[in-house]
Amino acid sequence: MRCPNCKGKDIGKIGTNQYYCWNCFIELTIDNGRFCLHQVEADGSLSSLDDLFEEEERRIQMD
Ligand SMILES: [Zn+2]
Repeated sequence: MRCPNCKGKDIGKIGTNQYYCWNCFIELTIDNGRFCLHQVEADGSLSSLDDLFEEEERRIQMD
């Protein structure tokens, strides 16, 4: 599985269907075979990054 943002493989599981990219510090949630991407803000809140990616880019790539 690769991070759709940095294409890195440094992804850790943090919960059910929830992952975290240690390379670019975004949270990845799997929903219907696609990633939902969130950035963790300084105050701990999450902001969605989904708008920055095409559907195709958010498709989960297994390897
Ligand atoms: Zn990443």
